[in-house]
Amino acid sequence: MEDTKDYIVIVQCHLVVERCSGYHCERAFHERTGGFAGYSKEKAYRSLYLTCGGCCGLPLHRKLSNVVRKAKEKEGIEKDRFVVQLASCITKDNYHGPPCPHLDYLKGLVDKLGLDVCEDTSIGKTAERRRQEGIYAG
Ligand code: SF4
Ligand code: SF4
Repeated sequence: MEDTKDYIVIVQCHLVVERCSGYHCERAFHERTGGFAGYSKEKAYRSLYLTCGGCCGLPLHRKLSNVVRKAKEKEGIEKDRFVVQLASCITKDNYHGPPCPHLDYLKGLVDKLGLDVCEDTSIGKTAERRRQEGIYAG
């Protein structure tokens, strides 16, 4: 599915980015690792980094709606060329805390807009080991 997309909207936890630059997300995308492993290294995707806007994540609906509408108006980009990539701080237990308690709600918002969604961005070795050891829940 990833190779049919041109425009990746990376969504990060609003609370976590108060203390995270998002460097590991950007690096994972640059290197096509973790949640980005399915994207071609040869293709120059458009990408946009957003936060959910804060709990419960409702602002994400408006943000995504805005980008999809603008891209269509200004460049004729159809919504099926978009994919929303939920960052690992939303989808997984990690250094910053447990996964988002509103994960299903966020996915529902994306679905309501008719956009495809994928999970995970950066998958660190230490965090993966801790998940396997049960230190992080999943
Ligand atoms: S996944 Fe990691 S690097 Fe990306 S925004 Fe969340 S905490 Fe920061
Ligand atoms: S809704 Fe989830 S992703 Fe958004 S700020 Fe709250 S915990 Fe973070």
